[in-house]
Amino acid sequence: MKIYRIPMVPGPVSVSREVLEAGQENFGSADLEKEYIDLYKATEKSLRKIMQTKNSVVIQTGEGMLALWSALKSCLLPGDKVLVLSTGLFGYGMGGMAEAIGCEVRTVGFGFDETFTDFDLIEKAIREFQPKMITMVQNETPSGTMNPVAEIGALKEKYAVPLLYVDAVSGLGGSVVKTDEWHIDLCLGASQKCLSAPASMSFLSVSDRAWEIIEEVGYVGYDALLPFRTAVKNAYFPYTPYWQGTAQLNKACELILEEGLGKVIARHQKVAGYCRERIVKMGLKLYPAMDAVPSPTVTAVYVPQKISWKNLDTRLRAEGLVVGGNYGCLAGEVFRIGHMGTQANLNLVKEAMDILEGVIRGN
Ligand code: PLP
Repeated sequence: MKIYRIPMVPGPVSVSREVLEAGQENFGSADLEKEYIDLYKATEKSLRKIMQTKNSVVIQTGEGMLALWSALKSCLLPGDKVLVLSTGLFGYGMGGMAEAIGCEVRTVGFGFDETFTDFDLIEKAIREFQPKMITMVQNETPSGTMNPVAEIGALKEKYAVPLLYVDAVSGLGGSVVKTDEWHIDLCLGASQKCLSAPASMSFLSVSDRAWEIIEEVGYVGYDALLPFRTAVKNAYFPYTPYWQGTAQLNKACELILEEGLGKVIARHQKVAGYCRERIVKMGLKLYPAMDAVPSPTVTAVYVPQKISWKNLDTRLRAEGLVVGGNYGCLAGEVFRIGHMGTQANLNLVKEAMDILEGVIRGN
């Protein structure tokens, strides 16, 4: 397998030795459950700080999509109304999943290169549709745009919508997420983006209102959230615990908190600003529209007309740089530079931009 010198994909990001080594202990013990619960609680405590919440945080073994689905399935019943606010692939994806549960879904969609701005339209949809849940993505990874959560949280409160579900997978740890202040009932995160831990740990903050609804729905499939509620209280973990992954996530959170969350977020903003500036200077076009809010964790760029994505990718790889391609309607059209977590490093991004510029100019 080829290892690239400069990995700049928007997750999974490169993981530091310190984090990798945190998962190398032999965790064998006579009292596994109790000790795992201690590790789980320590990780939860750190995640609460990063998510700015007093809510409980459920930590699951599995990719972000598993946790995303588990919250929908645990909170929704067939026929429930779900208002999907979307500016991209993950936003629309949440609607598709709610439909798979049998929910009545109404979508307020904007362009993939946009940010929600028409709050009157959103307010009207909430007033008319009266959803049980509003879903949205804070940071659309494929299009490199951000959406305003605070404003949607305020509307949710105004119209007493029971649940606001925010996918913050690629923004959490690299941008401000104020779970409680913004009235988020379910906030989704994953280990492999800005937290810079290995993939396959995902987590959800769950508000008291969401727990009430989860209990009412009573879903008990293997992907259910319900067992986690009693697990931590009773110091008994319901499944085989993934010690190593949890220990790595815990260490990754500790490192962020040691550096200081505010400083980490400022580092992401600085690096993203630099990246966008270089992209524009070298004559490439940023994907987000002029009035969209560009992401501080991933920069999406149009593939220049004179070179195919495949060709560009091959040439960058030959120079030791790997960036992200794209999916769906953005495949081959838009590529992405992931500067999140360990990759939100000015020297690294500078080197990546020098290589990209060399390849573009040499074409
Ligand atoms: N949500 C967003 C915004 C993402 O970017 C991703 C992954 O890239 C996911 C959800 C799904 O996470 P995972 O790939 O861990 O299933």
